[in-house]
Amino acid sequence: MNKRTNINMTRILNATHDQQLQSWVSSANEAGCDFPIQNLPHGVFRRLGKNEAFRGGVAIGDQILDLAAVINKNILPPAVQASAEAAAKASLNDFMALPTAQRSGLRAALSTLLAIGSAQQHETASCLVPQSEVEYALPARIENFSDFYSSLSHATNVGALFRPDNPILPNYRWLPVGYHGRTSSIRVSGVDVRRPVGQLKDPARDIPDFAPCKRLDYEVELGMLVGQGNELGTAIDIKDTDNHLFGICLLNDWSARDIQAWEYQPLGPFLAKSFMSSLSPWVVTMEALEPYRTGFARPAGEPEPLPHLWCPGLAERGSIDIRIQMQLQTQRMRDSGEAPVVISTSRFTDAYWAMAQLLAHQASNGTNLCPGDLLGSGTLSGPEPESRACLLEMTEGGKKPLQLPNGEQRGFLEDGDTVIMTAYCEREGHARIGFGECRTTVLPARTV
Ligand code: MN
Repeated sequence: MNKRTNINMTRILNATHDQQLQSWVSSANEAGCDFPIQNLPHGVFRRLGKNEAFRGGVAIGDQILDLAAVINKNILPPAVQASAEAAAKASLNDFMALPTAQRSGLRAALSTLLAIGSAQQHETASCLVPQSEVEYALPARIENFSDFYSSLSHATNVGALFRPDNPILPNYRWLPVGYHGRTSSIRVSGVDVRRPVGQLKDPARDIPDFAPCKRLDYEVELGMLVGQGNELGTAIDIKDTDNHLFGICLLNDWSARDIQAWEYQPLGPFLAKSFMSSLSPWVVTMEALEPYRTGFARPAGEPEPLPHLWCPGLAERGSIDIRIQMQLQTQRMRDSGEAPVVISTSRFTDAYWAMAQLLAHQASNGTNLCPGDLLGSGTLSGPEPESRACLLEMTEGGKKPLQLPNGEQRGFLEDGDTVIMTAYCEREGHARIGFGECRTTVLPARTV
């Protein structure tokens, strides 16, 4: 029997996933809403203009349930009080570090409070804050950021630009290639990106310039946030990775392609990547994503992973059916009131390496992962042209510019461009849930 089909794990669903469940927060029940009662993502927010502390909340419809306010109302079961206190803090690290069962207990209690028929509807309603009246912080204090390269389509398309004869190096199929990124420049959605300045090398000249980047690009990625960590010197068994993942955010991993082309050999990404990465404010928990789990398999003819990067559970539920879109709105579109246009659509299921493999690989040398660590999937391109998840691929290095409906063209991003990532999960018999957005506008470079 094929080892990929011999275990039939059922999805671990509970009452919080019930498609019939509705909230008395009526916006949560509207078709297409990212945050129905089946989602309940965690984030960190404060009310705009109030000079108050950031604190944890849960998104429901177009509102946020303020967990500190809920705690003050004394309407939670005593068993989930400690979890709620951890989730109400100004960063979610302590909550992420809790055992899965404790986090799950809070989810169940919040679902009960927010469901139609709740005995505490009146008290809970007084703990809601409209999303339109808040600003967000990063959901966690991110101490470590590693970025992977888990889409074979992306690696092939980009590899072909840099190494036309040899796009995929032999290690690619045996380990999830990654590198350590910079954490201090990770910013939440809504914070603008300043066009970086760096060394650019025109092939026709002998000497590089020091100038603003001309080939600024986004990368459509998912960010996995680590839950419970592991001790230094130990590994995380791939069968146990579910217990070490907290949830998933949208990640736009900014790239300066011209700086990158000159600096990256032989040690890899540096200043072309470190100037900023953008993260969405809401973390969709692994528990909320459970209904959309799907089997993970490599295409026929690919080598089987080594044993420490494989377990039969991956074949049953190693991937998640997340669809991700990137939209672009130029300054001119904004000025003339034109809506953003969708420029790419990706599916997480197209990745060559699964989340569990990224996590198990990173800890396999004895590295200690910490609660709140961020693991980037890498640019999530698929095989179709419309799934090319960065401009470098889409425009073939700027040679085939993107044609926008208003007649503008883009090889790479220009000042004033806004990019907006969104994503959702959808499955027959289950609610549709979304990730909110990760939105960033490009600011002009500083004067050099
Ligand atoms: Mn990246």
